Amino acid sequence: MSATATSSFDALVTHLQETALLSTSNALLDWDQETQMPAGGLEWRARQQALIARMVHERSSSIERGDLIAAVESDPAAMADPQTAALVREAHRDYSKATKLPASLVEEMAKTSSMAKHEWAEARAASDFKRFAPWLEKLVGLLRAQADCYGYAKDGERWDALADLYEPGCTAKHVAGVFDPLRPRLQKLISEIKSAPRKPADGFNDFHVSVDRQEALSRLVAERIGFDFNRGRLDRSTHPFCGGTHCNDVRMTTRYNERCVNDALGSTMHESGHAIYEQGLDFSRIGTPLGESVSLGIHESQSRMWENQVGRSRAFWAWLAPQLPGIIGTDASRFSLDDLYGAANVVEPGFIRVEADEATYNLHVMVRFEIERAVIGGSLEVAGIPSVWNRLYKDLLGLDVPDDRRGCLQDIHWSMGAMGYFPTYTLGNLYASQLFEAACEQMPGLVEGFGRGEFAGLRGWLNANIHTHGRRYAPSELVQRVTGKPLSAEPLMRHLEGKLRPLYGI
Ligand code: ZN
Repeated sequence: MSATATSSFDALVTHLQETALLSTSNALLDWDQETQMPAGGLEWRARQQALIARMVHERSSSIERGDLIAAVESDPAAMADPQTAALVREAHRDYSKATKLPASLVEEMAKTSSMAKHEWAEARAASDFKRFAPWLEKLVGLLRAQADCYGYAKDGERWDALADLYEPGCTAKHVAGVFDPLRPRLQKLISEIKSAPRKPADGFNDFHVSVDRQEALSRLVAERIGFDFNRGRLDRSTHPFCGGTHCNDVRMTTRYNERCVNDALGSTMHESGHAIYEQGLDFSRIGTPLGESVSLGIHESQSRMWENQVGRSRAFWAWLAPQLPGIIGTDASRFSLDDLYGAANVVEPGFIRVEADEATYNLHVMVRFEIERAVIGGSLEVAGIPSVWNRLYKDLLGLDVPDDRRGCLQDIHWSMGAMGYFPTYTLGNLYASQLFEAACEQMPGLVEGFGRGEFAGLRGWLNANIHTHGRRYAPSELVQRVTGKPLSAEPLMRHLEGKLRPLYGI
């Protein structure tokens, strides 16, 4: 590397890291708004966040940033180093995105989404979509403008430009190509389960446990599977999420339902999976693309793997069962291992995505994908969302949605201006199954170890194969490298059928 390139590279890294110092301050304000802030703080908070978002955007799209990237790119010796080349490639990608958006649009989006999040929470509490609709219309207008600024392929659509922000290279056509064959296979499995000769006992899903005791359980499990409380926190919020500022300050949240311990346990393990990914990023690369997670789909593969492949396994419950009475009360001793394992794997179509079992979950995602694709594409008005939502729930899950609170107002995502995001959940399930199969092949006895409370093997494997790379490899390339195969729906169907058929006697 020449002396000039070295200093350009160092200057680029400094520029990226200083921008990250600002943007992660905004992430902390997000966390505060969801967990601590009184309602009265809203307006000032929206202005704080809008200002920081504008400053981040100005730095990310500055001529200085562009010049620094170009200077490193023009030095073949510097670019011969694969890590440098990957960092610069991703910095260039981000720079192209940032320079396509005018600052006024970035600021307007930050301000509108901050207010819209609050309006969504109120509308959801009142189960009144009409109250939220004007805000969603405003957001959709801004999202379409954003998509047009980013641009998309000639044979593509506006939605693609938004999805690419979350899953690089993702298009509606590609998603539909994955979802279309998956849908009938899931529907077939679910209908067989509906008429199955046997059903697992689900008494543990209706068992009263105080929030304090559930919190103790959540903390114990999170710590045991590898969440480091010296470098992170667990708090409460309406919608569980994982945020924070960097790998040594990871903020996750969960929520508690006194009637169902598995709600909090599932969402805590889910968010822990996200958090363990964040804590596993390389601190020496923090603030640069190599110290960031690669995509939401891969992020979701980490959360779903801990929630499902681990948290819904018989071995996991064999480890947890003997300890449960001591943590959540002696009444819990009346549940056998079969009862607990069965309760974690009850398949029952329901209204709420975040409470859905593994088999029906992807159908919830398909409803949202279809709606947001139509809204962004212009074939569906915002006012028409509730009726389309309710019709799709009837068609896919056989359910009559009783109100908007349990219908189209249940998720926070659209209120944050996030469209093109939902399919990453199903991509995450597909990645999770494929990665987990590879981990099991490479580490015989892995699942049996869960029965002894041994989770460090899986965590270490994920850290070495996924976390530590940051954005060095594109998601599809990463999966190919780790598993030796391109992404396929087969491991997910093998996982679901292999577990649910014996449980239901089909
Ligand atoms: Zn998640």
